[in-house]
Amino acid sequence: MTHSTLPADTDGRIEQLIRDTLAPQVEAIDRGLYPGDFMRALGRLGGFGAALPPQTGGLGRDLPAQIDVIAQVARTCGATSFLVWCQATCAWYLQHSHNRAVQERYLQAVASGRLLAGTGMSNAVKHLAGIERINLRGHREGDGYRISGALPWVSNLGPDHLLIVAAALDDGGYVMFAIPPGAEGLTLRACPTFSGLEGSGTYGVRLKDVFVPPQDVLSGPEQFDAYVQDFKPGFLLMQIGMGAGLVQASLDTIHATNQRLQHVNCYLDDQEGDLRQALQTLLNQTHELARQGQAAPLLSVLRARALGSELSLRATQSAALHAGAAGYLMSSPAQRRLREALFVAIVTPALKHLRKEIHALEQPQAA
Ligand SMILES: Cc1cc2nc3c(=O)[nH]c(=O)nc-3n(C[C@H](O)[C@H](O)[C@H](O)COP(=O)(O)OP(=O)(O)OC[C@H]3O[C@@H](n4cnc5c(N)ncnc54)[C@H](O)[C@@H]3O)c2cc1C
Repeated sequence: MTHSTLPADTDGRIEQLIRDTLAPQVEAIDRGLYPGDFMRALGRLGGFGAALPPQTGGLGRDLPAQIDVIAQVARTCGATSFLVWCQATCAWYLQHSHNRAVQERYLQAVASGRLLAGTGMSNAVKHLAGIERINLRGHREGDGYRISGALPWVSNLGPDHLLIVAAALDDGGYVMFAIPPGAEGLTLRACPTFSGLEGSGTYGVRLKDVFVPPQDVLSGPEQFDAYVQDFKPGFLLMQIGMGAGLVQASLDTIHATNQRLQHVNCYLDDQEGDLRQALQTLLNQTHELARQGQAAPLLSVLRARALGSELSLRATQSAALHAGAAGYLMSSPAQRRLREALFVAIVTPALKHLRKEIHALEQPQAA
């Protein structure tokens, strides 16, 4: 992987936390343990606020540094890297809100990991891309909103966690808001067993006439489109960290197995050198786009995110083939990473969703 963009002392402390606290739990997380202690400890080291200013609980670095933290975690545990993405993205939404009241209530707590938070934005993001109907609906009530509906899968949740979602309003437009733990009308229900990501604290969410006061609104209908455009590049680019860490971990496996099996592994597709070069190109592009912030061209961001999915599918499959039967053992990280890479390619925006948006943006260019 490229050199981390974090200061060496922070980088070292996060690396040590991953080695001492996360690595021993990876198999248990794969089977359903939610790594709450690790998440809170990572928050204390600034692991969700690398791109946020220090006065909001951040490290005062930049978006490439946050992507590197997510990749660092993914190299050890893909499921946990998704939780880090969820938490960092909730901090990112709050940072980009123009409502100071919502920032004062939650930003520091979320950025420092004192308050863990889930983002239930898949449905709204897919809805805005013309893929599905919106599930949450509501209307204005006084200074706030009254919202009902259900979302099938939202991760990084639990009884003490914050939830950030968006809903369509009956009189037009959309509102994005936070729901604090224990809000009246909010219920979480257990999900069926997944083939991976079992420790991701994923629940079905039901909202029944939940009242959202003005101090919990991240964006009202007037600013909604501009607000989504503001946070979307960061939302997508941080997800590439999940894929990059899986590719790096797969390279580690390929390198190790080649010490014994190079004479036959050399007949496989996606050799170590090719994957390493592809990862470097992906990281260089991602860091460059992340440095551009909101000015990054959306088409390039979408292409980089799609490349992150494609490369993690290729690399994890190649690592499993390099490792052979040993990689097929339930105790082997090679088989777990195949399932985690598949998640990177199906979580919103899924590869099919990305290709739809890329196709739509390429049409006017072609004309
Ligand atoms: C482990 C896991 C964690 C997730 N975490 C989050 C999260 O934190 N936040 C978030 O917003 N989204 C989350 N999702 C949803 C994810 O981002 C995608 O939106 C979801 O996988 C659907 O995408 P799709 O491409 O399969 O949709 P499509 O193929 O377009 O499917 C169409 C629709 O059918 C729905 N659907 C299909 N099967 C079922 C089912 N059995 N029960 C209920 N609905 C169904 C899907 O939700 C989707 O809306 C998670 C999904 C999984 C599997």
